[in-house]
Amino acid sequence: MGWLEARKIPILFAVATLLPIAALCWLALRTLDQDRELERQRRRERLEVTAARVAVDIERELQWIDTRLSEGIGIRFLPAGLTATDSDPILFQPDPAPDVTLLPRELEEVARQEVRNPAAAIAAYQRFAHSSSAAVRAEALLALGGLYRGQRRVDEATRVYTALEQLGDVQVAGGQPAGLVARQGRLKTFLEAGDRARVRDEAIGLGHALRKGEWSIDRATFDLYETEMVARWGGPVPTDDNIRRTMAAIELWHTWRRNELPPRGRRFVGGKDPSVLAVWVTTATGAVAALFTPEKLQQRLRSTWQARGLTVAGAHGDGRTIFGGRVDGAVVLSPVQTQLPFQIAVGGGGIQENDYTLRTALLIGGVVLACALMIAASYGLYRITTRELQLARQQSDFVAAVSHEFRTPLTSMRHLLDLLLSRGISDEARKQSYYGLLAGETERLQRMVETLLSFGRIDAGAHVWKLEPLNLADVVETVDDIERDIGTRPLIVNVESDLPLVQADREALGRAVWNLLENAAKYSPGNSPIRVFARRHGSTVLVGVQDQGIGIPVSEHQRIFQKFVRGEQAKRAGIRGVGVGLALVKRIVEAHGGRVQVVSEIGTGSTFTLVLPAINSQVPNPESQSAVAHG
Ligand code: ADP
Repeated sequence: MGWLEARKIPILFAVATLLPIAALCWLALRTLDQDRELERQRRRERLEVTAARVAVDIERELQWIDTRLSEGIGIRFLPAGLTATDSDPILFQPDPAPDVTLLPRELEEVARQEVRNPAAAIAAYQRFAHSSSAAVRAEALLALGGLYRGQRRVDEATRVYTALEQLGDVQVAGGQPAGLVARQGRLKTFLEAGDRARVRDEAIGLGHALRKGEWSIDRATFDLYETEMVARWGGPVPTDDNIRRTMAAIELWHTWRRNELPPRGRRFVGGKDPSVLAVWVTTATGAVAALFTPEKLQQRLRSTWQARGLTVAGAHGDGRTIFGGRVDGAVVLSPVQTQLPFQIAVGGGGIQENDYTLRTALLIGGVVLACALMIAASYGLYRITTRELQLARQQSDFVAAVSHEFRTPLTSMRHLLDLLLSRGISDEARKQSYYGLLAGETERLQRMVETLLSFGRIDAGAHVWKLEPLNLADVVETVDDIERDIGTRPLIVNVESDLPLVQADREALGRAVWNLLENAAKYSPGNSPIRVFARRHGSTVLVGVQDQGIGIPVSEHQRIFQKFVRGEQAKRAGIRGVGVGLALVKRIVEAHGGRVQVVSEIGTGSTFTLVLPAINSQVPNPESQSAVAHG
């Protein structure tokens, strides 16, 4: 209970401050929550609008592809097969129709004699190599190359195959393109000659040519050359992409051949798991199509969302991913909504959050500031209140102390008077001693009243200072008067001769020294000595009172000079006092332009020193200064 009572005020203040702060924080949190929800909705709406724009842009891109197709740019569907552009190669054909070119009988004759008479065969083939028929030329060059290869004539064989390569798509050896067969022949020539480096170059060249769709071949031929020639001898590893695209194109071509392809359209093709987007337009000469594998499709469309800082994924109507994977918090637009051939999921990567972050920061900052202000205000109020309370308590203590101080001498005076008046005392000597005691008590009472009155005047600023040049030795000498008060204890007075004068109010300074002496006597044991000194120190004069009393803790060295403040030691020891003496001393000394120093330690004693400016230093006199300098 006592603990609670003592801390009632701080607890009250803490509660009064913390409650509104908690309410404020709660409100701020709610506002933040609502703001976040609102922001989320707003962002969602913005994303929906942006997603619709992306869909429109994708549609525009697809329409642009349509336009290009209408201009005939793309993979062309012809009854004979597919023709591709450089950027959209077709690796193999649906079913390349073999050219039926009849070869001259003589050529077959030469072939039959090859083994018996190679030289004659070579000469004959060389002749056929200049035939007007490309098919004959191709056949002759192929046979010639074979013969040279057999005779290890690498250079001649290479030259002949290179000539054969120029014939490109001309069919040879039962329907294979001359270019492809020539490259194969050259590769084998190098292989047989053990020239690994050129074999590899050949494999790489062949790989690139196959990948560009240079010849009209079927899938089986393509695969055979890929594995047997290119991959085996260090050519480029085939990429799935073009194969998938070619197969999708072939699938679409078959539909077109069956007359089942609408005049224009967009559709995913590619066997059981259709993932290649086909866009086509039929023209007078056939159909033109563009085919996009998922990667190509994403590449092609990316510009429509990348500039906006968005993430977009494409999926089939049933949710199977086409490109882009999962997008968190995305707006999903179905093909029905967008008229696109696939569903898009648009996520807002780069939507501006600055506004929201700024608002949040401002709100949090405002709340923190408000809380800080409330705490500061509350603390200030608490300080003022406690100070007022303390002052009130000190004042009531003061009144109690003063009453007590007065009562003690008054009681003994009354007692003495009663004794004297009762005429019971006939002994003159005793009578005299009673009178003496009575006078002492009266004087004490008077000093006390005077101290209080003069403190009241000085504190109110109403005191009129009577300043005059004063030798402080005179002031200290008057302490003789006090010997009565300090009892029988030894008083050691030590005054330096030749003290500089001080501009001072004699009576006030006397009261200050008297107060110090009274304290020294009050706060030290009855027989311990008290020292009084006065000496010069630089441009000041020091007047000090030293005792060997109870001492003052360092923590109180400042406080004891405040009015009504009494030391804890003093209160605990039950020593009388009202807490005004030192406050009065301080005010008097400060009015003289000086200060009070205290050096004290518990149990050892205290020294109070008045530091007062000497007249010379107060009013600088150029003559005396120069005299000192010369002296
Ligand atoms: P009081 O009436 O209590 O003596 P003062 O203003 O004269 O009031 O002194 C304030 C307090 O300073 C005292 O209550 C006491 O605790 C401390 N004090 C002053 N002088 C001395 C001293 N000479 N020795 C120890 N304590 C002292």
